[in-house]
Amino acid sequence: MQAQLLDWYDREGRTLPWRIRPEERAQGQIADPYAVWLSEIMLQQTTVPHATPYWRKFLAEFPTVIDLANADRDRILAMWAGLGYYARARNLHKCAQVIRDEHEGVFPSSEAQLLKLPGIGPYTAATMAAICFDEATNIVDGNVERVVSRIFKIEALLPKARAEYRRMAGTLAPAERAGDYGQALMDLGATICSPRTPECGRCPWSNFCAAYKNGVQLDYPKKVKKTKLPVRYGAAFVLTCDNKVMLERRPDDGLLGGMMGFPGTSWGDKPCVPLDHAPEKRNWEKCDANVRHVFTHFELRLDVYRAQIVETVSEGVWAEIDDLANYALPTVMKKVFAVSQN
Ligand code: SF4
Repeated sequence: MQAQLLDWYDREGRTLPWRIRPEERAQGQIADPYAVWLSEIMLQQTTVPHATPYWRKFLAEFPTVIDLANADRDRILAMWAGLGYYARARNLHKCAQVIRDEHEGVFPSSEAQLLKLPGIGPYTAATMAAICFDEATNIVDGNVERVVSRIFKIEALLPKARAEYRRMAGTLAPAERAGDYGQALMDLGATICSPRTPECGRCPWSNFCAAYKNGVQLDYPKKVKKTKLPVRYGAAFVLTCDNKVMLERRPDDGLLGGMMGFPGTSWGDKPCVPLDHAPEKRNWEKCDANVRHVFTHFELRLDVYRAQIVETVSEGVWAEIDDLANYALPTVMKKVFAVSQN
């Protein structure tokens, strides 16, 4: 199975900007741990087409991990805006600083040491160790879980039985070409063994696949039935003065921590009396549209209020509207601003 997958990868594996393909390695190119790390952190919960421009932007502005460590955190958060899961951006900065201060600017070269760094979990450590240092690790992400579930017809439910999927994936992992194998398996899941339309006729593992043999590919992986996301409610206030708008920084320890946003209510199970929380006693106008945004564990519905004043007040941060792209505004706050402008 290993040989067939690697042959397929040599022929048909994806070319990605951070990836060193086997033919490139044969010419002496080696993977840059910094570039691979950036890509892996960005790709968590994000697609390749969405993450790629961010990856290019980060590498252009911070060509080395030391440049990233020395950067202003607000600049990093602003550049991350739109990628979501902002704890990743805060940890990215922390991790770069640890590499600078404790590892002389060089990424450690083993899975065990990588795992000790901020923001690097088991998947990223295994992936980096295999791709950058050819350590024989067991790389398992959602794509790999799907492939393995079908190959073995695993009945145990995800996400509870994740350890079982990892164990089964480990039975296939080779001792050599660990990085290529891991990337091949992820490519197989991302391009051929897709959730709803697997192309089994093109699959290098179709001869070994229990689900394919039984025609039940789409029944796997088995998952715990999803419950409907709870809804939370709140309000946001967009206060403008000429071509400026009032922002405030969200506390580091909450959701969207460290990012900028508009003043607002807390987010609760029931709509509250929003104007009790407005930053200024003004003639707030409620916008016709509201904002809906889905986070991992809940759906947020925000009413948007707007008002204009003639002189800025001392509260908050006053940002030039034309310059908003340079502030660390998460997507939900960009939606709030868009609604306030209609
Ligand atoms: S044969 Fe089909 S279901 Fe099985 S691993 Fe390949 S693509 Fe996936």
